[in-house]
Amino acid sequence: MKLALFGGTFDPVHRGHLAIARAAADKFDLDVVYFVPADLPPHKGNRHLTEFQHRFAMLALATAGEERFVPSLLEADSGQPNYSIRTVRRLKSALNKSDTLYFLIGIDAFMEISTWKQPVQLLAECDFIVASRPGYALGDLVEALPEGVRPSGTMRQALQKQQASGTIALPTTRIHVLPDVKEAVSSTQIRAASGKSVRQLSRYVPASVAGYIKKEHLYISTATQREKTTVKDGKVLSFRQRSSGSVASS
Ligand code: ATP
Repeated sequence: MKLALFGGTFDPVHRGHLAIARAAADKFDLDVVYFVPADLPPHKGNRHLTEFQHRFAMLALATAGEERFVPSLLEADSGQPNYSIRTVRRLKSALNKSDTLYFLIGIDAFMEISTWKQPVQLLAECDFIVASRPGYALGDLVEALPEGVRPSGTMRQALQKQQASGTIALPTTRIHVLPDVKEAVSSTQIRAASGKSVRQLSRYVPASVAGYIKKEHLYISTATQREKTTVKDGKVLSFRQRSSGSVASS
């Protein structure tokens, strides 16, 4: 089997995520793409994340119609920052020898890879599929590689202006570049647009996810009063939020 691990915060999952997963699955003939939401992402600073359960539920809705897409609990309840090196190794330990694993990532996230935990070891674990975006050259991608993996000056110069596509073969890994997937959307944009109707949100996320965002009152700002109903052993019964202010209706 050919599989890809696609990590992110998915707060929320959107059409850009689905587009790159679809493009990668088609181009590399993948049987499965695991969407792995981070419980505690080490790279998202202090921003308050939506509860894992909500992000996972939205992933389940968004991937329901696509046989190859599987929402994964690999990084759930870890109690510690979700470093990719650990996640990849955990997944690999469950695979067969004949399986091929790819690490799927957008180029903007790949640009930070040198700051990740054990980037050299991570790159050696499996091949990478990097989804390019307009405006990036191969040179940018190569410059982002950690020392020890980054190729020599002459090779880097040659790649400097080349459009980001094709495969870069390095001694320990191969980096396949998926040419521009043009879905100009980010989760940040959706969080800022949460007052919009289901129809308007559906430009960025599948309609089922837009409906869920409205139903659960996600991403509404300061006028929100959180209503967490707990049962007596301390478990959360519902993550539903209730707005005390006005929320644009769908
Ligand atoms: P945020 O706006 O909160 O930073 P995001 O939209 O970038 O979030 P993430 O969950 O952080 O979403 O991204 C997961 C992965 O998807 C990353 O590798 C990122 O580069 C990639 N990605 C996100 N949006 C797009 C897009 N529109 N096109 C291609 N890749 C994307």
